[in-house]
Amino acid sequence: MIIAIDGYSSCGKSTLAKDLAHTLQYTYLDSGAMYRAVTLYFLDNNISFNDSEAINKALNLIEIRFEEHSNRTLLNDIDVESEIRSPRVSDQVSPVSTISAVRKKMVEQQRAMAIQGSIVMDGRDIGTVVFPNAELKIFLTANINIRTNRRLDEMQRKGYEISKTEIMKNLETRDRIDSSRADSPLSQAEDAVLLDNSNLTRKEQITMVLALAKYRQSNLEKA
Ligand code: C5P
Repeated sequence: MIIAIDGYSSCGKSTLAKDLAHTLQYTYLDSGAMYRAVTLYFLDNNISFNDSEAINKALNLIEIRFEEHSNRTLLNDIDVESEIRSPRVSDQVSPVSTISAVRKKMVEQQRAMAIQGSIVMDGRDIGTVVFPNAELKIFLTANINIRTNRRLDEMQRKGYEISKTEIMKNLETRDRIDSSRADSPLSQAEDAVLLDNSNLTRKEQITMVLALAKYRQSNLEKA
């Protein structure tokens, strides 16, 4: 069974995906971390986002995987989990994610990762493009103020000095670029369940989605 969770930036997609994967004993795959790792590689290697030749060369030199137990992101075998969450990467990841060559490569790898069995994957185009036949699709949303405060807490815990205004601007800019790009824009799949978690606790949210997952699973078993 594949569970696809898409939605706006900082809606708590990864928290929900991790909770689901943990409870159902599925593998959790963070597709956003893959786009972040590509962005980090481009920034560190001065790859211009307009230079398609350099981009194609670079994409052949990038290997992204997740460490088995910790789920930490490895870029060419180096742990980049912290660096890919930095504001430097967050500010550039959406422009990089508009590049079709990048998306093609990531989608291929995401599909290959799903061969390992039941998975929960979160991102922007999982239910629409990567796994259009996913058995359960959730489209997550939340109020922008709540999303900003959640991200601000997370960044402050990690020791970044960043203002609420900067965070909100980054979330709004990413949502705008992600929703309006030509290739695989963020949108709710027709068969996705829309969930606004602005006023839900983590427990309430997982309880609702687990009920949906169990319902879908029992339908699959009957079929
Ligand atoms: O999920 P996260 O916020 O870490 O994703 C970072 C960025 O990666 C998004 O803002 C988006 O530009 C890109 N992304 C994407 N498609 C995905 C996952 C992430 O374009 N499936």
